[in-house]
Amino acid sequence: MSFTLAIVGRPNVGKSTLFNRLVGRKLALVDDQPGVTRDLREGEARLGPMRFTVIDTAGLEEATDESLQGRMRKLTERAVQMADVCLFVIDARAGVTPTDEMFAGILRKMSAHVILAANKAEGRAGESGLLEAYSLGLGEPLRLSAEHGEGMSELHAMLEPVAKEHAERAEAAAPVVDVDVEDGEEHESWEPTEARPLQIAVVGRPNAGKSTLINKIIGQDRLLTGPEAGITRDSISLAFDWEGVPTRLFDTAGMRKKARIQDKLEKMSVTDGLRAVRFAEVVVVLLDAEIPFETQDLRIADLAEREGRAVVVAVNKWDLETEKQDKLRDLREAFERLLPQLRGAPLVTVSAKTGRGLDRLREAILSAHAVWNSRVGTSSLNRWLSEMVEAHPPPAPGGRRIKLRYATQVKTRPPGFVVMCSLPDKLPESYTRYLVNGLRDDFDMPGTPIRLHMRSQS
Ligand code: GDP
Ligand code: GDP
Repeated sequence: MSFTLAIVGRPNVGKSTLFNRLVGRKLALVDDQPGVTRDLREGEARLGPMRFTVIDTAGLEEATDESLQGRMRKLTERAVQMADVCLFVIDARAGVTPTDEMFAGILRKMSAHVILAANKAEGRAGESGLLEAYSLGLGEPLRLSAEHGEGMSELHAMLEPVAKEHAERAEAAAPVVDVDVEDGEEHESWEPTEARPLQIAVVGRPNAGKSTLINKIIGQDRLLTGPEAGITRDSISLAFDWEGVPTRLFDTAGMRKKARIQDKLEKMSVTDGLRAVRFAEVVVVLLDAEIPFETQDLRIADLAEREGRAVVVAVNKWDLETEKQDKLRDLREAFERLLPQLRGAPLVTVSAKTGRGLDRLREAILSAHAVWNSRVGTSSLNRWLSEMVEAHPPPAPGGRRIKLRYATQVKTRPPGFVVMCSLPDKLPESYTRYLVNGLRDDFDMPGTPIRLHMRSQS
C-alpha cells in the first residue's frame, strides 16, 4: 500500500498537466467506479523509483457562482480526506488570487498536510508569484513546471518522508488488530476524535513503573476497544476512552510478559521505546524518582525530541518520597541541566501505584498535544520577528548586517518555521537559538520541539 497524494487548487493552474506527467500513459480514470465522484480522477503515479496514488480534482470551471464554489470546496475536501498529503498548486505567473486564498483556508482548516507548489515557474518565470506564495501561510512553495518537468526531484524529496512514514506505519501496524494506520492528517482539527485518537507512548527504563501506570490509567471501568491480547512482536497499542478523550497508547515493554533476563530487557526497551516514539504524538518519559535521569532515560527523551514529538516528563513512585520539596527542586535542576533541548517541557510527579497525580499528567499531556498542533498567525509572527530583531539585531559579518525579512510557519506537529534571511549561512547558531527560545516563550509553546530554518531569498 502506497500513500495517496491529492492535487488541489483552482482551475487552470496546471493540475491536470501535472497529473498526466505523474501518471504517464497508464492513466486510470475512475469515473465509472461506484462511489467515486465523477470529478475526481485517480491514477498510479511514478516519480523516480517512487510509486503512489494520485488524485486530481480537475474538471471544474472557475467558480463564478456560489453553487460552483460550494462544489469546488466539497470536491477539494473529499480529495483531502482521501489523501495522505496534498499538493496545493497555484499559478506562479498569476500570483496569489482570492480563489487561491479560499483554497488555502480550506486546507488550513482541515489541518491537511500540504505541499505548496507554484507552477508555471519554468526558467526564472513567476519569481514574484513564488514569493507571494509565502503569504498563504502554508510554508515554502515548491518551484514547479508541470509542463516542462521542472521541480520533479524536489517534489520527490518532499514526498520521501511521507512515503517512508506511510510504509513504516503500515508495516508496523499491520499485525495489530484495529490499529489506525491512517496518518489521520485529513481530519478537521487536531482535537482527538473517535477516528483519530490522541496517540501516546509511555517510555522509560525497566521498572520505572510503565505497566503499573498504564494499568492505572486504563483501570477497570474504562472501555477497552483495543487489542489487549493482540500482542505483536514489536509494539502493542491499546485504544480507550480517557475521560472523554479517545486515546491510543503505544506500549513498550509494559503490557507484555517481561523477559527474565535483565540484559535482554534493557536492550529490548530501547528498541521498543524507539518504535513507540515513532507512533506517538506525545511521549511520556517515565522516570523512577529513586533513580531519575538515567542514561537510558536521557537517550529516549532526546530521541523523542529529535523525532519531533511532544514530551511530558513524569516522575513516578512519588509516594515513596519524604522530602518532596527538596526532591522536586533537585529534579527540576537536573532536568534543565541534562535535557536543555526539552526546555519548558512539563514535569509532573505521579504515583502509578496510588493514582495520585494522574489528573495532572492527563492535563499536561493534553496541553502538550495542543501546543504541538498549534499554528501562529503570519502577521503576529512577523510583528514578533521585527520586535526580536529590534531588541537584538543579528550580527554584521564583514560590515554587512544580516537581514531577516519574513517569517512563516511551514508546519505543525511539531511547529516548524522558516525565516527568509539575507545571509543564512552567516547567521550564528546562537541567534537561531535566540529566535527559537523567543518563539517558545512569546507564543507559549513549552515542551514542544520547534524547528526553525533560515532560507535565503532566492
Ligand atoms: P487545471 O485546470 O488546473 O487542471 O490546469 P491544466 O493542467 O488544464 O492547465 C491549464 C493551462 O496551463 C494549460 O494551458 C496548460 O498547458 C498550462 N500549463 C500547465 N502547466 C504549465 C507549466 O508548467 N508552465 C506553463 N507555462 N503552462 C502550464
Ligand atoms: P515497568 O518495567 O516500567 O513496566 O515497571 P512496573 O510497572 O512493572 O513497576 C516496577 C516496580 O515498581 C513494581 O514492583 C511496581 O509495583 C513498582 N511501582 C510502580 N509504580 C509505583 C509507584 O508509583 N509507587 C511505588 N511505590 N512503586 C511503584
